[in-house]
Amino acid sequence: MLTGKHYIEGEWLETDGRFSSQPVEGAAQEFCVGTPKLVDQAAVAAEEAFKAYAATTRDARAAFLTMIADEIDALGDEITEVGSAETGLPKARLQGERGRTVGQLRLFANHIRLGDYLDRRHDQALPDRAPLPRPELRMVQRPVGPVAVFGASNFPLAFSVAGGDTASALAAGCSVIVKGHSAHPGTSEIVAQAIAAAIDACHMPKGVFALIQGGSRDVGEALVQHPLINAVGFTGSLGGGRALFDLCAARPRPIPFFGELGSINPVFVLPAAAKARAVDIAAGWAGSLTMGAGQFCTNPGVVFIDESVADTFTASASEALTAMGKQAMLTDSIAEAYRQSIAQVQQIDNLREVVGTNCAGREALPYLFDTTFETWSAEPHLAEEVFGPLGIIVRVPSSKDFATAARAFVGQLTATLHMDAGDTELAASLTPILERKVGRILANGFPTGVEVSDTMVHGGPYPASTNFGATSVGTLSIRRWLRPVCYQSMPDSILPKDAIG
Ligand code: NAP
Repeated sequence: MLTGKHYIEGEWLETDGRFSSQPVEGAAQEFCVGTPKLVDQAAVAAEEAFKAYAATTRDARAAFLTMIADEIDALGDEITEVGSAETGLPKARLQGERGRTVGQLRLFANHIRLGDYLDRRHDQALPDRAPLPRPELRMVQRPVGPVAVFGASNFPLAFSVAGGDTASALAAGCSVIVKGHSAHPGTSEIVAQAIAAAIDACHMPKGVFALIQGGSRDVGEALVQHPLINAVGFTGSLGGGRALFDLCAARPRPIPFFGELGSINPVFVLPAAAKARAVDIAAGWAGSLTMGAGQFCTNPGVVFIDESVADTFTASASEALTAMGKQAMLTDSIAEAYRQSIAQVQQIDNLREVVGTNCAGREALPYLFDTTFETWSAEPHLAEEVFGPLGIIVRVPSSKDFATAARAFVGQLTATLHMDAGDTELAASLTPILERKVGRILANGFPTGVEVSDTMVHGGPYPASTNFGATSVGTLSIRRWLRPVCYQSMPDSILPKDAIG
């Protein structure tokens, strides 16, 4: 049962203000508005809890993460019902996302048990070294302290209250304060109930996790500026992320802000592949573009294709997109932002609207535009993310223009090459350019459907992310919440256990 309250230090707390959820179906529900005072209360509790939690064994934290996964599994269908009603995402998608969420928690449990992430190093003492002796030195990664996590609108489970940011931070040994996304407060609360049950079952310190519901901008601002917060994980808009990033940088003690912001994820269909498979690649692209109503961070919004086969490609993409039905968007404001983006693209000269319909209310339909390389190159807006199922096909007059296009992009989460054997030389020449632009390069696939694994990089140069050394998906994401500490000539008896192994 939902209470509409915040969860802080083991208690469900009420505040005076209320905001309403905006479900696609069913009755709206009232939730308590978060306040800066609650942020302070949660941060003080998180700092207190950190002292004990950071000292827990990796086995104890792994058991805690596994228990959270078990509790989420136990709530199964209830989470799907509330999540689907709040976000409009189909139940099957949310069941899959729940599987990913518990899978991430269990992945991190195994990851910390193995201990490789600690990156332990040991320089033996060299007392007889001349001209100076060397002291014994040990290095190990240590948790940074309480951290803040912003739940994302587009992944109500896998990037939200118990999503990858929270799982990796708890695995590292950090206490976590989540600012729930106001698009799915009920889903946030149920998942927080699962974490609360796991805290009790595993006898973890109460302040190790808190959920503060949104409904007011000053919650996020207070959270990133709180002196006891040491790092922030965020997935959302470029504007919102940048504002919070700037607040982190302007603090008397600046802290890292791991923001995953905008990305249009270019797709390059190279000439041999285009000639052999334009119809199939276009159909696959249309499927990826419309998945989740185009509300994926890896949504492939722009395709570059040899102009000699562009008509075939466009016709196939158009056929696939025209057949797509309406899909509910995550919130009214995201649907409105999608309509505004469409209107902005429609104003650009020399752009042909191939598929266009009227989207109303919270429903999205696909849009498809095609244009020349010259027009695309002259219009920077066409390289920016549109959050929704809007695709742009760019007709490339010569092979050398693929490199020009690749160079023109700012940082991206992904870039995709469609290539056959005849494209190898061109693909090899593009790879060093793309490596400097993106976090993940794919061949002959589509970027939606991010694998959660040891090798995944879900990040990239700005604005794909605010920290190019980090990923927000996969086991490497734990690094965001760790700091290397070197221990010089410290007796074993007072070293952290993890420093010795
Ligand atoms: P958002 O507006 O950036 O909001 C994300 C979170 O940050 C929310 O909790 C929001 O609080 C908070 N926030 C945003 N700006 C803030 C500010 N200036 N001060 C304090 N807190 C702030 O993102 P969204 O609501 O998820 O979606 C809106 C747009 O974000 C979409 O249209 C899309 O363009 C983009 N988006 C991109 C991705 C991606 O992966 N690249 C993912 C999701 C969304 P409130 O709840 O109070 O607003």
